[in-house]
Amino acid sequence: MIIDGHNDHVLRMWRGDPPWHIDLARASDADFSGGFFAIYVPSPYPGEPRETPYAMPLADPIPQPEAARVAEELYETLRALPVTIATSVDDFMPGRVTAIAHLEGADPLAEDLSDLEEWYEKGIRSIGIVWSRPNAFATGVPFAFPSSADTGLGLTDAGVELVRACNRLGILVDLSHLNEQGFWDVARVSDAPLVATHSNAHALCASSRNLTDAQLDEIGKTGGIVGVNFAVTFLREDGLHEPDNTALDEIVRHVEYVRQRIGIDHVGFGSDFDGAVVPTELGSIDGLPRLVQVLRETGYDDAMIAKVTHENWLRVLGATWR
Ligand code: ZN
Repeated sequence: MIIDGHNDHVLRMWRGDPPWHIDLARASDADFSGGFFAIYVPSPYPGEPRETPYAMPLADPIPQPEAARVAEELYETLRALPVTIATSVDDFMPGRVTAIAHLEGADPLAEDLSDLEEWYEKGIRSIGIVWSRPNAFATGVPFAFPSSADTGLGLTDAGVELVRACNRLGILVDLSHLNEQGFWDVARVSDAPLVATHSNAHALCASSRNLTDAQLDEIGKTGGIVGVNFAVTFLREDGLHEPDNTALDEIVRHVEYVRQRIGIDHVGFGSDFDGAVVPTELGSIDGLPRLVQVLRETGYDDAMIAKVTHENWLRVLGATWR
């Protein structure tokens, strides 16, 4: 059973685009049991970087009423999919796809959080405070390579309140896309295990979207998890967009780095399927069994593979949700 930290399937379906990596009809053949399905209100797509170094500008903020309107539509799109929307870890089982409704960017929420419980009632169980743009709660990190993630101010007062409210309700707080100041603010405020659903090791790929050793250590200390992102430009040491020339080993390299740094209990997958360009060798969810095979060839035994593919995610969700 494979549980995954991030996909953008809902956005593609909302736009009427064909799925790119996730064909739900083929999910059980691939042992794909779902995971985090992003409700992501899109910014204009800047395209993949063609060369390094690159430094894309931070995307513009989206006014809250507009973000809320689009997010409602995205949520209805998710509800129409043949998936079970998760409210408990027991909802995950082999042979079916279970979706964690994940707000990627809190832009749709009212700054006073007056609608947060309504979103919870609807089924939202995970909130990434920001996508790579500013909102009322924090500022995301712009896409850049090579670059640190220390690119701006941290949480606003409303952002601190959001983290506290998520802790209270049992909503997972996602650190991916947050700048470094924001990361440490969440680490200070939150009483839940820290989670980066789809980010990699900065020591191996110096993208602004990746996590420094100090950040990885902090996630490990809290019993949290890093979902390793399959996006080519967040994997490769040279940061280049070369999907045809990026081996599955590149994903394993990041899994292995996080494991050696903070332990086997704190690493999982965070594919970014249907949202980012992944290695051609992986292709789609169909490549997941092959990726697991490469982990096996690296020396991972059954117990380690169970942790990476699903047990770690289930543990963290169980410790976070009410
Ligand atoms: Zn993302």
